[in-house]
Amino acid sequence: MAASAPLKLRERKGAAAALPPWRVLVVDDDEQVHAMTGVLLRDFSFEGRGFSMVSAHSAAEATAILQTDPNIPVVLLDVVMETPDSGLRLVRHLRDDLKNHDIRIILRTGQPGEAPERDVVVGYDVNDYKAKSELTAQKLFTALVGALRAWRDIDTINRLNRQLLQSNEQLEMKVAERTAELVESHDALIRAKERAEVALERETSAKGQLRQFLSMVSHEFRTPLAIIDSAAQMLMMRATKVDSGMLTRLETIRGAVSRLIDLIGTCLADEQLETGRMIVQEQALDLAPILRAAVAHHQAASGGRQIELEMGRTTQVWGDSNLLPLVVNNLLSNALKYSKDTPVSVRLRASHGGVTLSVRDHGIGIPATDQDRIFERFYRAGNAHKLSGSGIGLHMVKQIVDLHGGSIALESTENQGTLVTVHLRTPPRDR
Ligand code: ADP
Repeated sequence: MAASAPLKLRERKGAAAALPPWRVLVVDDDEQVHAMTGVLLRDFSFEGRGFSMVSAHSAAEATAILQTDPNIPVVLLDVVMETPDSGLRLVRHLRDDLKNHDIRIILRTGQPGEAPERDVVVGYDVNDYKAKSELTAQKLFTALVGALRAWRDIDTINRLNRQLLQSNEQLEMKVAERTAELVESHDALIRAKERAEVALERETSAKGQLRQFLSMVSHEFRTPLAIIDSAAQMLMMRATKVDSGMLTRLETIRGAVSRLIDLIGTCLADEQLETGRMIVQEQALDLAPILRAAVAHHQAASGGRQIELEMGRTTQVWGDSNLLPLVVNNLLSNALKYSKDTPVSVRLRASHGGVTLSVRDHGIGIPATDQDRIFERFYRAGNAHKLSGSGIGLHMVKQIVDLHGGSIALESTENQGTLVTVHLRTPPRDR
């Protein structure tokens, strides 16, 4: 080691105090080398940091220091100490056993002949090789700065790697969490699907039972109802001559029987429409006689309620002769049922390449909150419960109108009345 006059190697004196110094491990069995290096280091500063020396007088002592403090950035290492190659052994131990690949090793030998530079640099993982004799203060400073720069870059790369690793771990955790959530919602969906399938199965079987029940009702009820009706009719013929009070009661019986027969018919038709078992047979059909017959029938059945019928010249439609009377009868029967002592009007007008049938009453009306659902099966408005009904009629009417490619609309105000309009197509030749 060349001892020279103090060199002006400080960079910025003020900043050096604030930051911890660069620690340099000096491994040498010569106390004088420690003393000299200490003096030189006191004068150095790099990137605003001074230098401090950590001393070891043998390879064994250096090993102990580096085991507890592996973050020392640079070591100035003598070769010949306890043994002629203890410095070189320490290099191996540091790199291979302690796995310290960051520390920069500057080999500083007094007897280059013992450890020739070329062999050492190739055979050992050292970063610099200096003869003690060539190490002036300036050369030592240059060697240390070079080593520290390399160490700082390695340290930065290590830090970035750690951060990258950390973000990867966080990312993997997030992916795992999200995957677990997805698995959970997938399982929940499967459970919901299974529940829905069970519910659907139950509903299908319940519908099947309902269908069986309806067909049983139609067959079993229709015959006794027809017998009751014809018996009442026969009794009426005799009663006129004998007892007028009995005549009224018999009329009541016939009215009730007729309502029951209508209800059964509506239920069956609605069910057949719903299950697609109803075949629509469209043909050119004159609505005029159907409307007249319906008006006459309802007038009689309602004890002579006023029903106005107004028809334009176009009365032909393209429709099914069994289904369209059901539409007319249901709308008329509703208009009469949900109004009292006020006239009901039925109109048939040509419109938009078809005809519009409208039935208007001045009855209880349908509350605005019920109007959206009024065509649903079994749905009844909140103000209708005092009057008997099943909630099937309008559902059936809508299905028939839809099957005819028509449309149905409803305007209603509670306590003022209701207007139902049905648009139907005219026969193809009239369009
Ligand atoms: P319902 O057998 O109950 O009369 P509908 O299917 O024919 O069944 O009608 C469904 C519901 O629509 C009725 O319960 C009633 O609340 C309402 N509604 C239908 N027509 C009228 C009307 N002209 N005036 C008032 N409410 C009506």
